[in-house]
Amino acid sequence: MDPCQIECVRGDIAHQPDMDVVVNAANAQLLPGSGVAGAIHGAAGPELARACRPLAPIRPGQAVMTEAFGLPNRYVIHCLGPVYGVDRPEDRLLAECYRNALHLAEAARVSSIAFPAIATGVFGYPLADAAAVTAEALRTERPALRHLRRIRLVLFSDSDRAVFQQALAAAGLIQVTDSVRSRHR
Ligand code: ADP
Repeated sequence: MDPCQIECVRGDIAHQPDMDVVVNAANAQLLPGSGVAGAIHGAAGPELARACRPLAPIRPGQAVMTEAFGLPNRYVIHCLGPVYGVDRPEDRLLAECYRNALHLAEAARVSSIAFPAIATGVFGYPLADAAAVTAEALRTERPALRHLRRIRLVLFSDSDRAVFQQALAAAGLIQVTDSVRSRHR
């Protein structure tokens, strides 16, 4: 079986209609909030917050799954990233988010999942460090995936995307594209 394909795009996590699952960079109470959580709850509608209520609170590194309601996806997986400098060890907790989300998606037998850059917004995780942790978590989990065929990382800006792309390329998960290579000439 070919390995699960990994891609890295610039975009909005709430607009990934071709993905079975989108991941929410949630807060512990699974409330709408700002950033990714605001975009996901805004697009899903108030039913999502209602579905989340009995699942809250969650702890750093944990992931829980709900339906996607008004979103064009089948499920939302809600992950609580570590608050940088507070929830330690940050790298292990961030890697757990990715691992736990992938395990939930596998258990649901879906074939595609899109992640935002968990913890790199209000939780303050430095982007390049988060990208390296993400790439390493995906590298170690990928061989065990049986149902997932596509993992997409959705970054909010071109510069954030370049940072993740570099980390994924360094881990051997994606080809280095011309645009990435050209910056190192
Ligand atoms: P956290 O609380 O886990 O830090 P945030 O939602 O504050 O989560 O931000 C996580 C990352 O997602 C940041 O890099 C931010 O720029 C980015 N982001 C914010 N809104 C969106 C969106 N709609 N789609 C994709 N990425 C987003």
